[in-house]
Amino acid sequence: MSNCETNTNRNRGEGGALREGAELIDAIRGCRICAARFAATETRHAPRPVVWFRPGARMLIAGQAPGARVHESGRPFTDPSGDRLRDWLGIDAATFYDRDRVAVVPMAFCFPGYDARKADLPPPPVCADTWHARVMEMLRDVRLTVLVGGHAHRWHLGRRAPVTETVRAWRDHAPRVFPLPHPSWRNTAWLKRNPWFQSNLLPVLRQRVQEVLR
Ligand code: SF4
Repeated sequence: MSNCETNTNRNRGEGGALREGAELIDAIRGCRICAARFAATETRHAPRPVVWFRPGARMLIAGQAPGARVHESGRPFTDPSGDRLRDWLGIDAATFYDRDRVAVVPMAFCFPGYDARKADLPPPPVCADTWHARVMEMLRDVRLTVLVGGHAHRWHLGRRAPVTETVRAWRDHAPRVFPLPHPSWRNTAWLKRNPWFQSNLLPVLRQRVQEVLR
């Protein structure tokens, strides 16, 4: 086969992947599976899927679900949790929001609403059951996966274990996968109790992020 034919086939393959990616993104954006569930929450909101990935991304941030602020903004991690996560990764907002390099795929694409204590409800499992495997199939160039919080740990690592235990065992998964706690302010006390996270894990993670995004 000539170089010209090889390039043509490659271009067809890339074009097909991009087209399939665009179709999948459109399908998720139009998803309303949880409309009745969200209408029954205190906020009575409608689904608003926050979809932030493209097929060629090299780093995947597997999160939990959008919070109320992200539900409003339509962009992932536009809140203090996002500021802390970007600090942990050692990247600025421009890099973080470059979808050609960084994909953000939560376990549910929509804000789930609040529970009685005003804490975010867990991501509805139907979302991951419906979409997650198809999205992962699309993200074939990912070289680094950052798992944010216990829900992402469970789906991607396939094991149920306390978050601290999973994060403490980060060397078992590095350098391709790094399990992290959620960067929410609710985990500030956890960070104080576990100083090894900042002193041991984060420097290695930041170096890996630089290698992958270079
Ligand atoms: S959370 Fe997921 S399954 Fe539910 S409406 Fe949003 S995109 Fe659809």
